[in-house]
Amino acid sequence: DSTKPSNFLRHVIESDLEQGNYSTRKWGGSPGDAAHHAGGMQDPAKVRMRFPPEPNGYLHIGHAKSIWLNFELAKEYGGVCHLRFDDTNPEKEEQEYVDAIRDAVQWLGYDTHLADNPAKSGEANDHVYFASNYFDFMYQAAEYLIGAGLAYVDEQSAEQIRANRGDFNTPGTDSPFRGRTPEENLARFRAMRDGQLEDGAAVLRARIDMASPNINMRDPALYRIRRATHHNTGDKWCIYPMYTFAHPIEDALEQITHSFCTLEFEDQRPFYDWLLDRLAEGGLIASPHPRQYEFARLNVTHVITSKRRLRQLVEENHVDGWDDPRMPTLAGLRRRGYTPEALKLFCERSGVTKSGGWIDYASLEAALRDTLDPIAPRAMAVLDPVKLVITNWDELMGAGFLDDCTAPVHPHHPERGQRSFKIGREVWIERTDYEDVQPKGFFRLFPGNKVRLKYGHTIVCTGGTRDATGKLQEVQATLVPDTKSGTPGADAIKVKGNITWVAAADALQAEVRLYERLFAAAQPGSGELLEELNRDSLVTCQAFVEPSLAGAAEGGAGFQFERHGYFVVDAKAAAAGQRVFNRAAGMRDSWGK
Ligand code: ATP
Ligand code: MG
Ligand code: MG
Repeated sequence: DSTKPSNFLRHVIESDLEQGNYSTRKWGGSPGDAAHHAGGMQDPAKVRMRFPPEPNGYLHIGHAKSIWLNFELAKEYGGVCHLRFDDTNPEKEEQEYVDAIRDAVQWLGYDTHLADNPAKSGEANDHVYFASNYFDFMYQAAEYLIGAGLAYVDEQSAEQIRANRGDFNTPGTDSPFRGRTPEENLARFRAMRDGQLEDGAAVLRARIDMASPNINMRDPALYRIRRATHHNTGDKWCIYPMYTFAHPIEDALEQITHSFCTLEFEDQRPFYDWLLDRLAEGGLIASPHPRQYEFARLNVTHVITSKRRLRQLVEENHVDGWDDPRMPTLAGLRRRGYTPEALKLFCERSGVTKSGGWIDYASLEAALRDTLDPIAPRAMAVLDPVKLVITNWDELMGAGFLDDCTAPVHPHHPERGQRSFKIGREVWIERTDYEDVQPKGFFRLFPGNKVRLKYGHTIVCTGGTRDATGKLQEVQATLVPDTKSGTPGADAIKVKGNITWVAAADALQAEVRLYERLFAAAQPGSGELLEELNRDSLVTCQAFVEPSLAGAAEGGAGFQFERHGYFVVDAKAAAAGQRVFNRAAGMRDSWGK
């Protein structure tokens, strides 16, 4: 697709396809057992990617980048993408997160059925993969390494292991347990599995090179003892594989071709290859095995993309849950009014590179505006209402008379029809649309000035009334006859100001929530997190909105409130029977201005 910008990952895939690298994939030995674990032999000609979240929190905008990248590349090259729960850590993982992650991926528009898994089809979790389903295979792989002299049970304390690992300048020191025979190691590993050792009393380590310049290659841990109930396997296991051991195996069993991850895993790649090379030699997995490629993680200014820190905000009640509209979670962005299209456009614009950096928050909002402006229905809303009285209305139009006004649902789509609303003696206008004395460059209401009530009539401001504290109570104006918008006299009088309004007679009351960046700090996470919070990230208004919003449905493109930006019905409030609109973004970027 020539409209898609190129990136280095596309080059990798294209060259693999050209050279037929994966279509010749062969099993080194008997494939039966291994293939069974991931649900049967899969079409080797296809490129196969995966998105592998750990179900320990809700997905955020950084994950959206990874989801978008993997699913889009798979689609583009006629392949498939797996949604795989990397659930090898029993303590932090929960079903709630599994469900929220599935919801988020599906909401983004990626059918998890892309992951074709014939052996599992028809089951409840059709086409969704769980790393914990491979625990048996991982255990076998560990015993294989032990048998081949490539792994040993280390019974040093955690502190000893850390101290003996060395550092950048110092090679590591061999563990006194490194010389155990395969038979001894196998017996100790089985003792670990059978619950004969305490938590933390031993780990299984790869036997590679304690002097490697890459510290990740200095006999990394493969298995640890942890008596914890797992959300999928319950109490079956008291030993669990380490992420670095589990992840390459998960990729290999699912016959992933391209395993994309963020740059912090670059140093893990040598171990990834070491492990899969050894398992392929042993005939446990197919060759060529998957390859890992790293890209720069997405960082967005004023946004935290770390599940751990986001959890802290939720648990300490700095926000109203994972789906608070200020949260950069997909659940929060969705509730805020972001659409899948806006997020995908943002991901595409942010590019795929090898060098990190920060993307400006403003470009997230720009992607929202650019996708919603062409489609969002328009509406008028007054967020900080003050009453405007048209003092000659009764005399000109008749006491109690309400005129009808119309406006296009969308200015560029006449076929979408018209909204209609009333105008009468009293209308609500924005408090900031009136000044006693004209400020420079201000063309809205001040005594003597003419403005148009948008889609309505031209009026002349006659004054405003304030209370003892100086707060504006009411604005007065007179109507200029025969100037209604859309009638022949509409352009007879030129005005410089056009103001939005809703009639007191048919306005609907609504709560409007104006959200701002959750963090005032441009690059939060470097200092004390809570001090970096923006204390004004939520402003609530008691607003009036036009009657076309009476049955406003949640989701979709939401609405453009003229002058104010993009808004969406708050799904949670709607479920509770309240009319609340969330502002997704203003009409233009005004941060810091
Ligand atoms: P966190 O630190 O927020 O917990 P994580 O990387 O530990 O993130 P995982 O659930 O393990 O979270 O991530 C699943 C996938 O999403 C991984 O492949 C990871 O590289 C990717 N990912 C996470 N954060 C980002 C980001 N900011 N930009 C791009 N990809 C990301
Ligand atoms: Mg992780
Ligand atoms: Mg993490």
